[in-house]
Amino acid sequence: MEERIVVAKFGGGSHVDKEAIASSSKIKKAAEIILADPSRRYIVLSAPGSLSEEDFKITDMLYICHSRYANKENYHEFFDKIQNRYTEIVNGLGINFDLESEFHALRRCLILGKIDATVSRGEYIMAKIFAEYLGWPFVDATELIYFNNDFTLNKEKTFAAVKDKVGKLDHAVIPGFYGVMPTGSIKTFSRGGSDVTGAIVARALNVSLYEKWTETAKIYSADPSIVENPERVRYITYNEMRELSYMGGVNMLHEDVILLLQDVGIPINVRNMNNLESNGTLITSDIPENSRKVAACIGGVRKFKCVKVTKFGLNKLVGIGAKMFNVFSRYNIPFEHCMVGIDNIAAVLKSPIFDLRRNEILRELEAAIHPNAVTVEKDLSLIAIIGEGMGTVKGIFAKAFDALANAEIKVRMLDQGSDNLTLVIGVYDEDYETAIRALYNGLILH
Ligand code: ASP
Repeated sequence: MEERIVVAKFGGGSHVDKEAIASSSKIKKAAEIILADPSRRYIVLSAPGSLSEEDFKITDMLYICHSRYANKENYHEFFDKIQNRYTEIVNGLGINFDLESEFHALRRCLILGKIDATVSRGEYIMAKIFAEYLGWPFVDATELIYFNNDFTLNKEKTFAAVKDKVGKLDHAVIPGFYGVMPTGSIKTFSRGGSDVTGAIVARALNVSLYEKWTETAKIYSADPSIVENPERVRYITYNEMRELSYMGGVNMLHEDVILLLQDVGIPINVRNMNNLESNGTLITSDIPENSRKVAACIGGVRKFKCVKVTKFGLNKLVGIGAKMFNVFSRYNIPFEHCMVGIDNIAAVLKSPIFDLRRNEILRELEAAIHPNAVTVEKDLSLIAIIGEGMGTVKGIFAKAFDALANAEIKVRMLDQGSDNLTLVIGVYDEDYETAIRALYNGLILH
């Protein structure tokens, strides 16, 4: 049997897990979790989070130091705070660690104006401390993660380096969030990118599982600020998770994580450090039968607008859609959904650019299409019922529309999507929350 190997990643995520591994006690807890399962052999760390709501994450403070220094403002307050946070961690862990030289190097990066190198030190110092605490080897991301000149990941070189430098070790601690450019300078991923490092290591070593450990994050089957105590999602497919991130504002995972792990089928387990009894959420390609009622979850986003072009006999004309979308694309506006009738075509948009340039865009639509009318409807909310294969489940539409009818919700639009993964229902913003609750009760609640 193949040996089970787990890459476990702790902390980070720029929005979801602000308080992760913020203090020595939380770091001790992470170590306990790691040591409780010998298959957790490779650890990727983010920088420490904030100690409280009012406090800042280390990465945020590093960005602040950089911008203050660049603007010739006083950065010392934040620099000292960062230093104090690491001092507490080192003292609390009871290890011997030369923080002074790390901070000396950090100050040099700051003074040289190297922004990526500066903000990467949050992860770097954290991972070095943790490696020392566990007594495991530290492998710097600059020896593993290689970018191309165009800032894309050099996958081949990166995977080969991870196999060579990490795969040969029994254990390793690796800082997340950054890598190195061909010039040798440090380059970070976008915010929340320590997860990308974790996924790269998992993929390169073709491990059994990628674990993402968080302090606060939970994946719910509906927005808990709208539905009281919604069920946690125990199993969700990669595609459903991507859809939920897009339609539910669940910024749980950097989107590159799924892109890296989906095609090789490495499951992702999102776990909560404060609830060890729960197995968290497993993101995978196969979910156990009977693990859900009808759909996996309900996502939703408010404040879309619908731009409708009316032109009599439009169904017989060729190229009107192309003209309409050409106008949007000139303004770099993506469209989210499209609806067509015999006399009209409507696009559902989210981009704020539309509001900013509305008059020019409408003028261009008039000039390109010579329509009978162009109307813009605002305050449209979209709700997605998410569940792989749900388009073929008998009775799902009946259940959804029964639930909405009983709650007296007017349905503004419908889009089943071509991927058999979602049913998107457009309602007026004022009905949004009632509709989410109705659909949750009808389709998710067991
Ligand atoms: N520390 C970085 C950030 O705050 C990366 C991460 O946390 O994943 O964005």
